[in-house]
Amino acid sequence: MIPRSHPRYRSLVTRELLAGCAKSGIVSWEGLTAHGRGEAFDYLLGEKTTDSARLAERIAAALLMSAHHPVISVNGNTAALAAPEIAALQKTSGALVEVNLFHRTEARVQQIEDLLRSAGADVFSGKAERLLPLDHDRAWCRREGMYSADVILVPLEDGDRAEALVGMGKTVIAVDLNPLSRTARKATLTIVDELTRALPEISRACHDLTEEESRQIIASLDNKYLLSEAIRAMTGRLNHALD
Ligand code: ATP
Ligand code: MG
Repeated sequence: MIPRSHPRYRSLVTRELLAGCAKSGIVSWEGLTAHGRGEAFDYLLGEKTTDSARLAERIAAALLMSAHHPVISVNGNTAALAAPEIAALQKTSGALVEVNLFHRTEARVQQIEDLLRSAGADVFSGKAERLLPLDHDRAWCRREGMYSADVILVPLEDGDRAEALVGMGKTVIAVDLNPLSRTARKATLTIVDELTRALPEISRACHDLTEEESRQIIASLDNKYLLSEAIRAMTGRLNHALD
């Protein structure tokens, strides 16, 4: 039992949750190390949503709301950390939810789909085919799902797949705490924020954006600016870490 009074309570509870999900097979062992990298960058951000991340979250909402065929791609870490938040975002945005795994087995896909459904998501689970221009199991997706999407939200995505999706002409929205990652640099829009903070912000924005504001912020999208603001927030904190 982790005492509530522990100054790192939230982080420790999250680690315990992910470790449990790794034992049950929902999270891959590799996913645990990916979480550790995310935690390190979140420390640099001060574990809070920056103004530039909040702007990115509003743009993400605007892109999802104006899409013809929006898809949220879910992997093991995303399902373990944020299944209810995914279900809520699906309801507000109307996006299709599809499971796509780097370390793919049919059993894991099934387990993650069940977890999402028990949190209230309506999961799209048609027949998967090797449709993306990638080697390895990352190529698997569904023709009527991710393959046909115009806007796709890829929380915690691998850089190669983000690049392949952009290459297919899709608008790719990444959630990644590492502003230097290939995913962050290849995506159309990168939200440098922790997943469980980012998803509710996107849902909130889906509720309150007007059509006019949506148009304006989509037109203003400058991912290089958003990434440089994230890096500025981190270096600013590093420069004053011992003040
Ligand atoms: P690249 O994009 O350069 O190929 P990578 O494939 O090595 O990077 P992964 O190991 O797949 O990156 O890790 C996924 C990314 O997800 C990491 O960059 C990490 O910062 C980020 N991440 C992990 N947990 C979270 C979280 N809870 N919220 C937001 N981002 C996270
Ligand atoms: Mg990678």
